[in-house]
Amino acid sequence: MRDPAKVKAKYKRYREKNKTKRAASARTWRENNPERVLQLQRDYVARRGAITDPEKIMRTKLVASAYQLLTTFGLTPEEWDQLYRYQNGKCRICQKVLRHRFSLDLAPDGKMASVDHDHKTGVIRGLVCAMPCNRRVIGNATLEEATALVTYLSDPPAYAVFGERVVPPKKRKKRKPAAKLGGTQGAANGSTRTVRRRTTGR
Ligand SMILES: [Zn+2]
Repeated sequence: MRDPAKVKAKYKRYREKNKTKRAASARTWRENNPERVLQLQRDYVARRGAITDPEKIMRTKLVASAYQLLTTFGLTPEEWDQLYRYQNGKCRICQKVLRHRFSLDLAPDGKMASVDHDHKTGVIRGLVCAMPCNRRVIGNATLEEATALVTYLSDPPAYAVFGERVVPPKKRKKRKPAAKLGGTQGAANGSTRTVRRRTTGR
């Protein structure tokens, strides 16, 4: 029988010598066994148990948020805060108060902020509320398109032709049978309102 201490030391030397090779092969294994990786992660979470400490949950969320900010926009929380303060914590378009992304005491009831950027050049423009300003007002519009929109709204062609001609009042569309819109369960928990809105809107 060989000396177990010697075997251990030998294996340790081997590991150190082949560090990069072993890391590469581990990476390959992870890439080839995504379902095993997922299972191992699930096992770990099951062993550890759910995180219930509210402070720890919040910390985890903030770390995830900071990571997302950095990977998506290349901004640190400090830089985000700098921009937020420059804008006095308000959406630059609708002027509504924005919730601070990293300070829980600053405008906790404010609107969620989006980092608006030029999708073509990637240049960051500022903080605006996620909805409606970022998604609906700016959308993917370029400065040229937005300028054309301002011109159109300021001087609508129909004004010149008809004057202020108003459309007739909206007719109410018939609703589809409730059974097709999510059945009794939807009606029971009150979610029919959203379903209804979706079917009659526009
Ligand atoms: Zn806004």
